[in-house]
Amino acid sequence: MNTYARQNLTFERGEGVWLWDTHGERYLDALSGIAVCGLGHSHPAVTQAVCEQAGKLVHTSNIYNIAAQTQLAERLCEISGMQSAFFCNSGAEANEAAIKLTRLHAHSRRIEEPWIAVMEQSFHGRTLATLTATGNSKIKHGFAPLMPGFVHAPYNDLAVLEGICTSHRKLAAIMLEPIQGEGGIRIPDKGYLAGIRKLCDRFNLLMILDEVQTGMGRTGKWFSYQHSEVMPDILTLAKGLGNGFPIGACLARGKAAETFVPGSHGSTFGGNPVACRAALAVIETIVGQNLCAQAAVTGKALLDGFRQQLKDLPGVIDIRGMGLMIGIELARDCGALVGQALEARLLINVTAGNVIRLLPPLITSESEASTIIQTVSSLVREFIQAESLELRI
Ligand code: PLP
Repeated sequence: MNTYARQNLTFERGEGVWLWDTHGERYLDALSGIAVCGLGHSHPAVTQAVCEQAGKLVHTSNIYNIAAQTQLAERLCEISGMQSAFFCNSGAEANEAAIKLTRLHAHSRRIEEPWIAVMEQSFHGRTLATLTATGNSKIKHGFAPLMPGFVHAPYNDLAVLEGICTSHRKLAAIMLEPIQGEGGIRIPDKGYLAGIRKLCDRFNLLMILDEVQTGMGRTGKWFSYQHSEVMPDILTLAKGLGNGFPIGACLARGKAAETFVPGSHGSTFGGNPVACRAALAVIETIVGQNLCAQAAVTGKALLDGFRQQLKDLPGVIDIRGMGLMIGIELARDCGALVGQALEARLLINVTAGNVIRLLPPLITSESEASTIIQTVSSLVREFIQAESLELRI
């Protein structure tokens, strides 16, 4: 079906940060398949894990024990501080699990019709519940009737959220991305997550963090809540978890960790041996190569570089980021830059209309980072110059 406005471009091979198209042209991927291939393309450890497991056993069903799934659950709990895991195949499914878990938990506390507070400009997926939770009207358009049980609050505004907590007696959880990805790489004020944790504790709510985009080392720590002292009750993951092999996870701790019982939720493919082996290989590679720390250092180099090159340029509103999640906000819509970057053999993305979004692989080297800085900066300069010429004409 016609669901994607695709570029007229086909890739047939990838290695590290590089992709080759069907004409043999090489591109630097500063997007990682939208925060997915954190280890770069065709990482040998993931390829080996997938091939070995596929040669042994692909699928048995969740009605039997799956050793790789148990190992992955334990490993994820170790690195996140959570206590239990449910596995699925995508970010939307991980968030669906979080929403269902929240509702079940609320019913057990006699909240008959529980609500979840979610954020404006958020993105949580395309299923009916997750698109309702999403704070972007374009994504919801035409899909009414939407799901009941969600109330939207402005992002990064604790006062409004406190008002919602006070007035909504049936509120059961607050759900948010610690940094909004699709919403334009929006980084909240220091203390925002801690403020949300306090509200959750005061009003007896579950705190759900959607780290589908920010997780697995992208921001310079395994998960971006680890930059603060805050622990969520529910954590959702996907994207970078399998480095391109589809897998999602909903992790929980405390009472939420024990809410699902046999029959509450399920997935035929979720947590299959091949996907779990891929994710285990991702985790061990990130540990072995110290890639969280590398992402922090490379991300800072990118931010510093862009600030040096673009800071005082009229038309550049803000340059922000955390680790390898970087946004350059321009004064006007700049979707055209994606095609111009392709001509320069660089993959980037524009989100929220006017924010250049860069999500390069965690393995990006210093020299690859400097190519990204030079290429993007000159494209932005040309773009802004062309605009001011247009205005003069
Ligand atoms: N949550 C966040 C924060 C995302 O960025 C995305 C995808 O972009 C999703 C959820 C949905 O993930 P998926 O496309 O795997 O369903």
